[in-house]
Amino acid sequence: MDVAAGIAARLGEVRRRVAAAADDAGRDPREVRVLLAVKTQPVEAIRAALEAGADLLGHNRAQELVATGPGLAEPGVPAHAMHFIGHLQSNKVNQVLRWASCVQTVDSLRLAERLDQAVARADAGAAPDGGAAPDDGTRARAAGEPLDVLVQVNTSGEATKAGVDPAQARELALAVGRLPHLRLRGFMTIGANTPDAEVVRRSYDRLAEVRADVLGTGAPGTAEATELSMGMSGDLEIAVAAGATIVRVGTAVFGARPKP
Ligand SMILES: *Cc1c(COP(=O)(O)O)cnc(C)c1O
Repeated sequence: MDVAAGIAARLGEVRRRVAAAADDAGRDPREVRVLLAVKTQPVEAIRAALEAGADLLGHNRAQELVATGPGLAEPGVPAHAMHFIGHLQSNKVNQVLRWASCVQTVDSLRLAERLDQAVARADAGAAPDGGAAPDDGTRARAAGEPLDVLVQVNTSGEATKAGVDPAQARELALAVGRLPHLRLRGFMTIGANTPDAEVVRRSYDRLAEVRADVLGTGAPGTAEATELSMGMSGDLEIAVAAGATIVRVGTAVFGARPKP
């Protein structure tokens, strides 16, 4: 099988897994979107996935996002949305804004405020480099629209994982909801890194509890915070059972990544 056919076949298999997991949980499979985590993949592989029907991608390094951006904006490349799913350094905010329509990894008010200000500046006509604003149709977010964001929560308690502590998630979400240029769309987490399914399930249940808590406040800017981005190649069934609306899949579609 050539590379593109392999990607298409594996994407089909992931969709079947999601559908089966949704079915088991009594959920409509259409409630769960598959985001392809495309880190380290060449543009050709990403295009093959888009041609096989993928429509939601996630990059976790600004450098790769910028490097693949032009190739994915070429005519003939199927329409898709690009989310940022990695740790976002403040000096990369403008680059990410150029190519991504959603930042899933907001884990501090400081980062949220930087994003909010960057959106305001971009809409005022200032490009990241100080030149003219890009007006070539490749800007991810329509001018004047808020930037979609998810609050990243550290639901596993693992010290190496990014994300706000669950106990602080409500306060951060409400603060993000008040920022005029951001639209809080929900929550994201990276599950516990363990083969113990019960522990993984608890971390995903925790994210669902955070969402319920924040929606329950009825606070301004929280009504659209319905997304739960959780679950990866190895544990997406657990995440779908816990209510995931976006699962983020890399290796199950592209194969194992080369070790860095
Ligand atoms: C790479 C990555 C994934 C996908 O992980 P796989 O195990 O390859 O499916 C999901 N989320 C984030 C944030 C990632 O960086």
